Amino acid sequence: MRTITLLIPTALLALLMTSCKPAQTDESRLRDFIASHLKQVEPKTTAMNIAEWNANATGEKKYYDENAALDLDIKRIRSNRAGFAFLKQLKEGNTIHDSLLRRQLTVLYNNYFKNQIDTSLLRAIVEKQSAISSKFNTFRGKIDGKEVSDNDISNVLKDEKNVEKRKKAWEASKQVGKEVAPMVVELVKLRNQAAKQLGFDNYYVMALATDEQDENDIIRIFDNLKQLTDEPFAQMKHDLDARLAKKFGIQPKQLRSWHYEDPFFQEAPQSPGVNLDAFFKGKNIEELGRTFYAGLNLPVEDILKNSDLTPRKGKYQHAFENDIDRAGDVRVMLSISDDHYWTSTLLHELGHGVYSKYVDRNLPYLIRVEAHTFLTEAIAQLMERQCYNPDWLQTMVNITDKDKEAVRRTQHENLRSKELVFSRWSQVMVRFERSMYQNPDQDLNKLWWDLVQEYQLVTRPENRNEPDWAAKIHLAQYPCYYHNYMLGELAASQILNAIVTKVEKQPAIAEISFAQKPAIGEFLKKQIFMPGASLHWNDLLKHSTGEGLTPKYFAEEFVGKRIG
Ligand SMILES: [Zn+2]
Repeated sequence: MRTITLLIPTALLALLMTSCKPAQTDESRLRDFIASHLKQVEPKTTAMNIAEWNANATGEKKYYDENAALDLDIKRIRSNRAGFAFLKQLKEGNTIHDSLLRRQLTVLYNNYFKNQIDTSLLRAIVEKQSAISSKFNTFRGKIDGKEVSDNDISNVLKDEKNVEKRKKAWEASKQVGKEVAPMVVELVKLRNQAAKQLGFDNYYVMALATDEQDENDIIRIFDNLKQLTDEPFAQMKHDLDARLAKKFGIQPKQLRSWHYEDPFFQEAPQSPGVNLDAFFKGKNIEELGRTFYAGLNLPVEDILKNSDLTPRKGKYQHAFENDIDRAGDVRVMLSISDDHYWTSTLLHELGHGVYSKYVDRNLPYLIRVEAHTFLTEAIAQLMERQCYNPDWLQTMVNITDKDKEAVRRTQHENLRSKELVFSRWSQVMVRFERSMYQNPDQDLNKLWWDLVQEYQLVTRPENRNEPDWAAKIHLAQYPCYYHNYMLGELAASQILNAIVTKVEKQPAIAEISFAQKPAIGEFLKKQIFMPGASLHWNDLLKHSTGEGLTPKYFAEEFVGKRIG
């Protein structure tokens, strides 16, 4: 990389000049460093985003290859030792006083830090990870010797009444765990080795630290969330078990994992409710998204114009948002059809979209992004939840008063079960993962079931000693990230509370409709979106909601108890 070798001597030269004018010089040297760094990285990042977009739009290999090559290029730039030494010296010298420059230094330092792992170790990690990934892609569990897909398994767990068949399907869903478990443990040890090289106790601590999170702060939030949900979850679980026991003609204490619809019990089983799909049949969903966001005074015309919304062969089947250039080219990819799922998904992705779009364009490139990934997830969740709101449905798709009452009666309860169940499942994931990185040699099979029993109140199957944990793909493929899904939910409730009390001037959190509420859009734009990453995520929350991240509004919204 010729361009890098050009960059470094300048940085080193500047380094030698430190002693003369410390504060002044350090800031200008950092500015120069950032400018030459971005000259390489900014165009590569844009090109990488476009390659990723094209890969998902077409499924063509050449775009996947292009994306991977650019990703590697950028990583190589950030792995430069001299560059990192320069950033480290500035960080430890504490001589950068300009607040925007300090934030850029933090972001850049973390980006470099993650890439300082020894090359041969890094290669071993990437190879192990891709071996596991291909196992997950190709492995099929078996029922009575016959291969089944994930869809087959989930259909059995949804509809099958015969308990023996359910049990076999559940066991099939876990067979991949046995296949990959030894490799996952090896991968964890390799990652820990890398973290130790860089001065951390283990990889979990390092992954969070380089993502501006402190593992002790995060676990404190989960401890607090546990306390708040203990009782209401036990009550909900008790009612659910009574319903399921009746359905299967057994005693509640005989219920096991395979009686719940989701193989990990991460989602609540379906409960009778209103058919929300009917409200969207025949509607123009794109138009609905456009009208809703226009009503918030967060127009999305430009986003929709750049986007890819219709189903097509070879195209990615799920949905995502991509801020291509941090300069206004924001896109969403979906395969819309006229039902509830795709409407809520459109609102979700456009939630990410408006966040990206309204980050202040005058901010420096490195901090012209969301304050943290879990915060853009919070906004997306907040918008998605609108699709379950009776008043929103009446304004946007004109449902009758009778339907509105029916939605009001059932939807909050369904949403509450969904959030409670997910919150307890996320406790298992977060605590298991943290403990696994602290000690990968412990009895992980036992640890997993101890946590499942304690947090999800699901009884351990008799005489089972299998690596059921390893069947969860996130542990291998998306390490040390799961807690962010839950933090996003907590932040969504906290931001909703701020909207309800500060903008709508109501006394306490309530699930209000955002339809035709430009003042809500204005609040989000000014308080959350515009500052981008110019503030640490917790400072942004303090600044916009009055307090740091707390589970208390999630509890007020879904636990049904007023706290404090
Ligand atoms: Zn999302």
